[in-house]
Amino acid sequence: VHFLRSLSKAELHAHLNGSIPINTILELAQQYSPSIAHTTVEDKVVAKTIERLKSGVSLDEVSDFFYLFPAIYALTSTPQALQTATCVVLQSFLKDDGTNGPQCTYLELRTTPRETPHMTREDYLKTVLMEMERYPATQAALIVSVDRRMSDRDIEECVNLAIKFKNSGRRVVGIDLCGDPLKGDMQIFTKHILRAKEAGLGLTVHIAETTKNTPEESQLLLSWRPDRLGHATFLSEELKGEFFADTPQQTTLPDCDMGITELQTRASDANGWYKPCIEICLSSNLLCKSVLSLDAHHIHDYLKNDHPVVICTDDVLPFRTSCLGEYALLLAQRPLGLGLDRKDVERLAKMGMDAAFLRPRT
Ligand code: 5GP
Repeated sequence: VHFLRSLSKAELHAHLNGSIPINTILELAQQYSPSIAHTTVEDKVVAKTIERLKSGVSLDEVSDFFYLFPAIYALTSTPQALQTATCVVLQSFLKDDGTNGPQCTYLELRTTPRETPHMTREDYLKTVLMEMERYPATQAALIVSVDRRMSDRDIEECVNLAIKFKNSGRRVVGIDLCGDPLKGDMQIFTKHILRAKEAGLGLTVHIAETTKNTPEESQLLLSWRPDRLGHATFLSEELKGEFFADTPQQTTLPDCDMGITELQTRASDANGWYKPCIEICLSSNLLCKSVLSLDAHHIHDYLKNDHPVVICTDDVLPFRTSCLGEYALLLAQRPLGLGLDRKDVERLAKMGMDAAFLRPRT
């Protein structure tokens, strides 16, 4: 544990509302009254889930964890509750109690700006940023998530806010595409995503999370040239082959047809080839059953090909993990872990730090 704690590690794929410690969720559930909610989501389901949380239900049944989010959203629908949640999440990753050291050295936390009866999307981001900016820029930064189910107007609003906050010197460093992997029309995102990139924001997208995500969809997302890819569990062998190619002739990834000749990406290697860092979330994949065992995990393809990866938690609440827990899986012997040696783990940790949107100096 001492070895893992002492490593410089970047947590680059953590969703705010999926990372709230269970004690905080239970506290927020106790303070919650339906009059706070007035949410547009299915109130009955939410009320039932919150009742179950209040009575200390076990989270063991969480294989389709998306059902949890509406209840968590109801609990964090006021600025005060969101502020509490953000504060606790930042602490859980970054707090150094003097003896144990923090879970990670640098955190890029992501969240979807949400309009509620109690706050606008702008208020939402201000609340999160206020807590985040209590930490130095070398420790914490924000990625604004856009959800696959959003309308054109919603995406536009979120991207506008991200650009506005970035341009006014606030701690927004990137855009993330997230949400139910089977929902939404990805075409409508293109023009907004490219605007974000032109404004200098980093880009990460959840891609190929299920077997139902088509190679055509992956190609479209890759045509935006994201700097990092979330999960990429079911990326086709052909598309993976594009990343592992070491000659330009082999690269046939389409370019985005948006009148931009050269898409900027930070994900180029020394030769200028496109090598987007893969955000790997081992426990998340196992618990969602998208990967059946660590031996069968797609991380092995990337490690074999010396392709950049970063080890992340995704949602510590439903997946009951931590940054150190994910790194411990790297060291643990097979089949419980990946059986890597310390040098490999050090190399992976460095790759993660190198893939940060805001490069922290260490
Ligand atoms: P938030 O953005 O509200 O802070 O965090 C929760 C949201 O993150 C969820 O509603 C969901 O849209 C997204 N999310 C969390 N984990 C995953 C994941 O593994 N895959 C995808 N596609 N989205 C996720």
